[in-house]
Amino acid sequence: MERALRMTEKIAAAGRLAATVAHEINNPLESITNLVYLAKTSPELPTSLMQYLEQADQELSRVAYIARQTLGFYRDNSRPAWLSVSALVEGVMTIYQRKMENKNISFDKRISAELEVFAVEGKLKQVLSNLVTNAIDASDFDGVISVRARKSTDRKGQPVICLAVADRGEGIPKEHMAKLFAPFFTTKSEIGTGLGLWVSKDLVETAGGSIRVRSRAGAKSGTVFTITLPIETQVTQSEVNNAWA
Ligand code: ADP
Repeated sequence: MERALRMTEKIAAAGRLAATVAHEINNPLESITNLVYLAKTSPELPTSLMQYLEQADQELSRVAYIARQTLGFYRDNSRPAWLSVSALVEGVMTIYQRKMENKNISFDKRISAELEVFAVEGKLKQVLSNLVTNAIDASDFDGVISVRARKSTDRKGQPVICLAVADRGEGIPKEHMAKLFAPFFTTKSEIGTGLGLWVSKDLVETAGGSIRVRSRAGAKSGTVFTITLPIETQVTQSEVNNAWA
């Protein structure tokens, strides 16, 4: 048990390190991308070199994608505020509209217009984006993604919101369940980073919440990720400044 815990801590530390490195490489990465662009558009460029630059550009896009996925997590250091859950979900779904249209996926949202949560907008958006992209990736053509949110109370009687993102996709094999939230676990060879769920879990738990998953592989009964967040985290002022930071 203790060994397993140490392993989990080591993996989490590795993930944190990766996120820090991603943050550090972002500026030089942008410079290199610009330099490659300048070289590619230079009239003096010998045509024989163009293919190398094209390849370099493609590889750079991939590194930038990985860096961005982890970075969203660090970026929004604004203070928590009261946010409409319905508007937030709507905003995230708009970002993925094209991706959903490509697979003819419909979106079913049932969230009361009055439901609000006290949180940092960017960080909650990051969590939702990660869950929604995974749901889209897992969905077949003509799939349905449902998002539900409601008020509830936790074991201590504190008010919480439960927000569930459900798909009717391929489901998750039993043997993958224990690894889902570990950094770098991915089944999406080329496009996956395996950081989305790890980042989401960390963000939700830092805000005093939890995340859980229910899924069955094969039966097309899909997957449901549910996050539970305190409606208003009971924290001191200095913690408010650092909450979700
Ligand atoms: P990535 O999307 O880059 O692979 P994540 O950490 O977001 O990284 O997800 C890790 C893995 O969990 C995915 O590669 C996939 O195997 C599995 N997974 C996550 N969400 C779903 C889902 N809704 N349906 C099926 N599998 C999922």
